[in-house]
Amino acid sequence: MPGTPDLSLTIYRGTTEIGGNCVELRAGPTRIVVDVGVPLIDSRGELFDTRSLKGKSKQSLLDEGILPNVPGLFRGDLHPDAILLSHAHLDHSGFLGQTQPRIPVYASEGTSKMMLAGSVFANGEEIPKKRFRKLQPGRPKTIGDFRVTTFPVDHSVYGSSAFLIEAGKKTVLYSGDLRLHGRNPEMAEQLLKALKNQTMDALLMEGTHLGGSRRQRVTEHNLDEQISEQVQRAEGLALVSFSPQHVDRLMGFLNAAKNAGRTFVADAYTAFVIYLVHRQLDLVDPSADEEIRVFYPYYFARKRRSKLHDMFRPRQITLDEIRQNPSDFLMMFRPSMLDSDFHGKLPDGATVLYSQWEGYLDRQDWQETERRLAASGGKLVPVHTSGHILEEDMVRFVREIDPRVVIPIHTLRPERLGDLCERVHRLENGQAYEVG
Ligand SMILES: [Zn+2]
Repeated sequence: MPGTPDLSLTIYRGTTEIGGNCVELRAGPTRIVVDVGVPLIDSRGELFDTRSLKGKSKQSLLDEGILPNVPGLFRGDLHPDAILLSHAHLDHSGFLGQTQPRIPVYASEGTSKMMLAGSVFANGEEIPKKRFRKLQPGRPKTIGDFRVTTFPVDHSVYGSSAFLIEAGKKTVLYSGDLRLHGRNPEMAEQLLKALKNQTMDALLMEGTHLGGSRRQRVTEHNLDEQISEQVQRAEGLALVSFSPQHVDRLMGFLNAAKNAGRTFVADAYTAFVIYLVHRQLDLVDPSADEEIRVFYPYYFARKRRSKLHDMFRPRQITLDEIRQNPSDFLMMFRPSMLDSDFHGKLPDGATVLYSQWEGYLDRQDWQETERRLAASGGKLVPVHTSGHILEEDMVRFVREIDPRVVIPIHTLRPERLGDLCERVHRLENGQAYEVG
C-alpha cells in the first residue's frame, strides 16, 4: 500500500562486540545506514588502528571482513540514500572516509565539529562540507520514506545523539551511546518525555555494561569533586590525560584548575576543541582569555605553520615557563609528550590525573609513563567514570520507552539483557529483521 512502507533493519556489525556499529534500515526503496564504526579490536585482538587501512583497496578490506558488507556503502552503483552518525567516536564514525562520497551524511553540528578536530589532530576524518546535512534536535528530517528525529544524549563526546526513525506507522529508536549519570541527565529525561506517548516498535539499545563487573555509580558531578580534590592536593605539576572531545570532562578540569588557583594549559588539540564550542557552552576562549594557556607539543610545533598556530599564539606557553613554576599549572598530557617534549624527564613530584578507559594503562606507552613518574617521585591517580549507561539505568530506560522489542547492540553480552528486560530480541550480524 503506498504511504505505508514496511520497515526492516539489519545490524551489520555490533551484535556481539563493543564498537564497530553499523545498522542499515530499509523502507520502500529508501535505505539509510546508521553509524559506520571501526571495530575497537582487530583480528589479532589488539586495539584497532585506523592507520592500518591506509594503502588497502576497498575490495580487500571488504574481503577481509574489515568493512561491513552493506550493499553500495563503500563501492558499487546502488548506494544507500543517507548515512546518519550518532557521534564522533571512531567506533561509530571511523569508516566514513571509506564510504562513497556521493552519500549525504546526517549528524549534529557538535559531531561535525568533533570530527573536524579529530581530523586535524587525531588521524580522524571530517565530514566533508558538501556531504554534511545538519540534524537539529526535535526537528524531523525527511529522507525518502523515512522521517528522522534527533535527540541530544549525554555521552563521553560532545554532540552525541539518539535517533527516532519512522517509516509509515513503524518506529525505531536507536539509542546511540548514552548514559544517565553524566553532566546532563536532563537530556535523557527530555527524550523519555518526548517519547512517552509514542508506540515504539523496536529499540536498539547500547549495552556496553551488560554483564560487566558491578560498578559503583559515580556521576560526572561526583567526579568533579574527586578531580577538584586531587588538583588541590597535588604539590608539583598536575598533569591530566583524557580525550579533549569529552567536553563534559574538560569542563570539570577547567573548573578544578580555577578552584585550585592553577592555570589550565591546553595542548593545541584541546585548545581547538574548546575554541569550537566555547560560545555555545560559555567556556574560556583559548585564543584570547587570560585564564588559559596553550602548549604546542613538538608534533604540532614542527608542522607547517597554519591558521591554528597563529590563532593560539597570544596564549602560547613554553615548557620552560611551566618548569619554573610547575605547581601553578594543570596541564594536558599524553604519553607521546614524555620523550618529544619532556625529553624523558618529568618535573619532580608530578601528579598525572588519568581520566579515561583503564584498559589503555596496559599499553606500553602508559607503562613507561608510570615508570618515569615513579622515578621522579610522581604518581598516577585514576579519576574516571564511564560514558555508557549502567545496567540499572538501562532497565529504567527500556521500561519507560516500553518498546515491542528491544534489540541489544554495542555489547559483548547481549544475552544478559534478557535477564534484565522483557521482549528482548537478539539478532546476528547481517540478519534482516522486519520491524512491527
Ligand atoms: Zn561512543
